[in-house]
This record gives sequence, C-alpha cells and structure tokens, in this order.
Amino acid sequence: MDSSPTQTPREKLEAWLRYYDDLNLGAFYTDRRTVGKRPIKQATENAAAALPARPLTIASAPAKTAPAVSVLPIVNAPSLFESIDRVENDTLERIREDLGECTRCRLHEQRNKIVFGAGNPRAELVFVGEGPGHDEDVQGLPFVGRAGKLLTQMIEAMGLEREQVYICNVVKCRPPENRKPEDDEVATCSPYLYRQLDVIAPRAIVCLGATAAQALLKTKDSISRFRGTWFDYRNTKLLVTYHPAYLLRNPNAKGEVWKDLQKVMAHLGLQPKKTPR
Ligand code: URA
Repeated sequence: MDSSPTQTPREKLEAWLRYYDDLNLGAFYTDRRTVGKRPIKQATENAAAALPARPLTIASAPAKTAPAVSVLPIVNAPSLFESIDRVENDTLERIREDLGECTRCRLHEQRNKIVFGAGNPRAELVFVGEGPGHDEDVQGLPFVGRAGKLLTQMIEAMGLEREQVYICNVVKCRPPENRKPEDDEVATCSPYLYRQLDVIAPRAIVCLGATAAQALLKTKDSISRFRGTWFDYRNTKLLVTYHPAYLLRNPNAKGEVWKDLQKVMAHLGLQPKKTPR
C-alpha cells in the first residue's frame, strides 16, 4: 500500500481500501442508497436540449470470489470509489442550493458574486477553468472577460455555440489578485465541481490549464505531463489544454490548443465551422 505523510485522510483511506481490494477483501461495505440507473435529466428549453439523450448507468461492482469471512450480502452497487461524492438524484439546482452563500473558505471574504457555472445542463462537452477573475466576479458568470472571449472563439471554431456547452471552474469565488487557488480552497470547493460533472455527465471534459487538470486528476504534475492526452475521469474522457489566459500571453500556443480541440471534436463527431484565428 502506498502511503505518505503528505496524504490527506481521504487519500489515506482510499489507499487502504485499494490495499484491501488488492487482498480481495473488497466486499465489506455496502452502498445504502438506492442503486440503479440514474434518471435521465428533464429536457430543457435550452437550444442544446436537442442533443440526444445518453443512457446513464452506474457500473456494477465486478464479481469477486467470496472471501472466506463473514460479509454482508452485496452487491449490485457502484464501487466505493465510484460512489464517493455521488449524490443520488442530484441536480445542478440542488448543488447550487447546497453551495448557498458559501463561507467555507477564505475566498468568500473578497468575492462579489459566486460563479457557479453556466451553459447547457445536458451538455456533451464541459470546460473547466481555474476560478473567476474580475469580470466573472462582477457578473457572476464564468469566462466573460478577455479569456472568456477567446474561449467563446474556441468553442465556435469547434462548430458549437457557447450555449451548447457547460462552463465552470474549480473554485467558485475569485481568488484575490487572480492568484492561483490554494490547495485547501480547491479541496473545499471541488466537491461541488465533481457533483456538477456527475449531474451533467458530459461525453468529454476539457480542463483549461493545470489547476483544473490537477483538481480532476488528483495530481500535482505539471501541465506538460497532461496536455493533449486523453485521460479517464470517472468513465468520462478528459483532455487538458492550455488556459485561454495563457494563450492571450502566448498566442503561439494557439496551434497546439487547436490540435487538442480537434481531438475533442473527433470524439464528439463535430465539424469545424471556421478556421480559428
Ligand atoms: N479564468 C478562469 O479560469 N475562469 C473564469 O471563469 C475566467 C477566467
């Protein structure tokens, strides 16, 4: 079992459980909640509601040889790791309500508006940024400043409208002076992001920059380790590309981002509308 002094209690617990799993002692827990198919979300009047409904299922735990110990009779249930952070019958509205006028971390002290996320709740594609900047903090909407305009161009170059995708951030309140969110701020806020992604259940997630990638892939590796490669995030394809704010400072990297986005387009079966600038 891998364990290090820098692990959080949750990481330690996960490591222990993985260790038990390796020892074939998997079936000593149960998920007490109703288990079964996730309900298809209600149709919305949003333009992209026309996207075909996708069957949403929770993978069953793989059958294992029963250990010779007394165990609870289990289990057509998601594995413990899959069920962490999952809330049965969750909705974006409920997540927003649970967030409330959040004061769970210091970022609330200077924020103007919480930036929860915006777009199609049934989107096939979700973009995840780092955290709101000044314009987002004022308007309460993600990616509405200069970086947001570039993101809109990227989305349109993919043959989509902004309203067809969902856009959100790792942290929902603006970090002062647009600094990077601290680890504890990310840890406090990211469960809401995980819930948003579970509810939307997109076919692809694009992480804009290292903070989003690190939060979703649970690593501290640098962006050069992940950019342009597909990863699995809870059975959803996840790709990391440069943050539009980085592109504003380094326009030469736009070509690489376009290559990344073309991978996403191929996965989603999208045709480009126009050549990106
Ligand atoms: N940068 C981000 O990461 N998110 C926003 O919403 C705006 C800028």
